[in-house]
Amino acid sequence: MSGSVIQVSDNLYIISTELLNTKNWLSTYLIIGDKGGMLIDPGPSVNIEALMEIINEEFSNIKIKYLGATHIHIDHGGGLGNLAKLLGDVKIFVHPRGVKHLVDPTRLWEASIEVLGDIALFFGKPQHIESSKIVGLEDNSGVDLGGITVRAIHTPGHAPHHISYVVEPFNILLAGDALANLYEGRVYPVTVPPFNFPEYLKSINKVASLNYDIISVAHFGYVKDNPDVFLQRVKDKAIAWASTISDLIRNGYDRPESIYDKLLEEDLELKFIVKFREKYKMFEGASYRAVLGMYQSIRELMKSL
Ligand SMILES: [Zn+2]
Repeated sequence: MSGSVIQVSDNLYIISTELLNTKNWLSTYLIIGDKGGMLIDPGPSVNIEALMEIINEEFSNIKIKYLGATHIHIDHGGGLGNLAKLLGDVKIFVHPRGVKHLVDPTRLWEASIEVLGDIALFFGKPQHIESSKIVGLEDNSGVDLGGITVRAIHTPGHAPHHISYVVEPFNILLAGDALANLYEGRVYPVTVPPFNFPEYLKSINKVASLNYDIISVAHFGYVKDNPDVFLQRVKDKAIAWASTISDLIRNGYDRPESIYDKLLEEDLELKFIVKFREKYKMFEGASYRAVLGMYQSIRELMKSL
């Protein structure tokens, strides 16, 4: 088996493959109810074979009947089509605004190439999915897995169609990219374009008001002790980025590259993460894209004031 399985609670696991030799790059969730298993964020098309290898080895008695994605960005949901073909009889859950992009992934694929470049080609093109298999989840609606309910909490900002999932009765939030990246205890905002800063802040506040016991993020892992402290750090960090970037814009900085360099000088957590991930091709340009998304959102906001 090439990858890892982490048990978060009864019937809830984080599975991670080692795509491009990268450890712990994406939290894929397996939730096991009496009616069957649900996989959330299976990753891109290229990930599916390795993921299913782990599942067949470690969970051979579980029938996966439900699939979901926190959002349809191809590093999270790009493999849903391949998986649906492989598994046959499954229902797929996403935000209502994501449904049409799963049925016809043309625009999603074009946008992925535009934002991610080469890495999108490596991840692979999402496959078309029949609309009869897809269910759009409204805010607060749940998927009953039998003894466990997976409930959608709309958390836009990172993407307008972003959902976090609460696993009940455990009071665990699977936050996808709604909050932050977490590596080696360091955080940075997940703000790739097209990013919406005000919506993102609202979503962080919404999550904070709902008092979860455990919060998991897509990249990577979960926070068990004092998730409220984690949320405050996430919020402080996003606000610090926004304020540094707006100051730089006011001082005449108009190239995202030089704004990125400045932020890297100031933000030691970001500097650490960039260094930590340097050797992995998977993360090439990822932190720059995050700063670019925040810059674009702040620039729009400043224009509208
Ligand atoms: Zn994303």
